[in-house]
Amino acid sequence: TDDGVEGKTFVIGTDTTFAPFEFREGGELTGIDMDLIRAIAETEGFDVEIRSLGFNAALQALSSNQVDGVIAGMSITDERKQVYDFSDPYFESGIQMAVAATDNDIKGYEDLAGKTVVAKTGSEGETYAKSIADQYGFTVTSLDQSATMYESVKSGNAVAVFDDYPVLAYGIAQNNGLKTVTEKVPGGSYGFAVNKGQNTALLAAFNDGLAKLKADGSYDKILDKYLAAPA
Ligand code: GLN
Repeated sequence: TDDGVEGKTFVIGTDTTFAPFEFREGGELTGIDMDLIRAIAETEGFDVEIRSLGFNAALQALSSNQVDGVIAGMSITDERKQVYDFSDPYFESGIQMAVAATDNDIKGYEDLAGKTVVAKTGSEGETYAKSIADQYGFTVTSLDQSATMYESVKSGNAVAVFDDYPVLAYGIAQNNGLKTVTEKVPGGSYGFAVNKGQNTALLAAFNDGLAKLKADGSYDKILDKYLAAPA
């Protein structure tokens, strides 16, 4: 175990609503990320104070040392590795496009010409959408929250949203009014992040705790709790 963290309290930034990774249920923050960080903290003997800030805001809070770490379905990317240190990956993810469930016009990227799509500010989905925007002739509007993105697609302000596929799949399974029509685009796996060269004990404790949760079955239980198909 890492003795550098025992008894300490760390401030952890997260997204607002990014189900099943973080969301509110009866006012309480819950989800895979929340269960993971709390279980790791318990295993490693430290405390966490969670701040539900929004994705881009959480990254900015980390950069300005207002939080010690971020767990927010945050993809490990080469660009981010320049400024943050990441834990071992804990979940495989990537990008997908979704449209309104009632939309029969948008069947692929080539149907996006002249249209507006939405993506989350500072996210991998935004980077991906922008990377193909010129090729397919669409405009990308960036929004801070998943809920706002989904609403804008359902209300017709945008024709599509680019977001992480596990999150889209979870929402669609709960009949959130969207559907996917294109293939998944592989992206970075999720990792817990600290500022580069800082909070090394916290990062080591996260990795140590994650390994323990994987070894004793707790990690699988947490994933099953949110992702297992209903019996
Ligand atoms: N995984 C994506 C990223 O890191 C989106 C994260 C999020 O929206 N919370 O960019």
